[in-house]
Amino acid sequence: MHFNIKEIKMRKTLLGLYLLFAVMVIFVLPADSYAQIAAEYSSDNLKYLSFGGFEEDVWPHGDFVENKKVRLKMPDHKWRTEQIQLWESAIKEAVSILPAQFVDEIGELSFCFYINQYTWETAHPRGNIVFINLSPSIKRPKWMNYETLPLNGFTREEMIFVAIHEIAHIYSLFPPEDLFSRFIYSGQYSDILWWKHDREELFSSEGSPTFYGRALGTEEDFADTLALYVMFPEYLKNFPVRYSIINNILKKEYAGAYSMSGSLRSRSTLFAVTE
Ligand SMILES: [Zn+2]
Repeated sequence: MHFNIKEIKMRKTLLGLYLLFAVMVIFVLPADSYAQIAAEYSSDNLKYLSFGGFEEDVWPHGDFVENKKVRLKMPDHKWRTEQIQLWESAIKEAVSILPAQFVDEIGELSFCFYINQYTWETAHPRGNIVFINLSPSIKRPKWMNYETLPLNGFTREEMIFVAIHEIAHIYSLFPPEDLFSRFIYSGQYSDILWWKHDREELFSSEGSPTFYGRALGTEEDFADTLALYVMFPEYLKNFPVRYSIINNILKKEYAGAYSMSGSLRSRSTLFAVTE
C-alpha cells in the first residue's frame, strides 16, 4: 500500500480532526452534560434566571402526609448545599431548552429552595418565584397511585421535569398584568384556550397523559403536558390534541433528548408506549 502526498495530507488532517474530537469528548462532554442536546440549547435564556438560595419559612401548598407531631431529622448543611447545586444546574438546563420567545414572554424567573419533610410537595410557584422542596416526604397521599418524585433521590431528569412543570404554571397562572386570566389556560399569548376552547374536545377525546394531571385537574394536567412536550415528545404524541395546543404555545418541536424513567414513567398513564 502506498499513498500519494495529497492522500497523506488528507489523512493527517483527518487524524487531526479525530484527535480534536477525542479531546473534546474527553474534556468537554463530562463538564457539560447537556452537550448531547446542544442544538436545542439557548444560553441566552439564562439572563432571566436567578436563584434566591435557601429560605427557612416556606409554606408548602401540598398536603401533609407525615405526622406533624413526629420530629423528623433535618438533612445537614453539606447535603443541602450539594442538592441546591444539583437543582440549580438542572434548572439552568430546563430554562435553556425552552424556546427563547416563550422564556421572553415569562420574563424574570427565580428559584428558591426550602425543606419541608412533612408534605409530598416537590415545588410550587408564587408569582414568578418557584419554591423547590429539597426533601419532600416519600409517603404518598391517597390519590397518588404512582411513584413519588423524591423516592431514591431526584434524578437530573426529574429535576428538569419539575422545573419545566413549574415554569408552565407561571406561564398559565401568573401572566403579566392580567390577574383575571390566571384561571384560563392560557390563551392570551397564543389563540388557544386550554380551559375554554376545546376543553370538551380535550377531555373527551383523550385522557390526561399523567396520573398527576388526572388526579389533580386542569392546572396540573397543563403543567405536566408542557413538560412532557419538551422532554418526551414521542410520548405526548399519543395525546394529539394536547400536543398541538402546546405546539401552538411553544412554536417549536423537540427531538426528545431524555429518558423517561422512575417516577416520571410511573406517573405517565400510557408509559408502556415509550418502550
Ligand atoms: Zn404543579
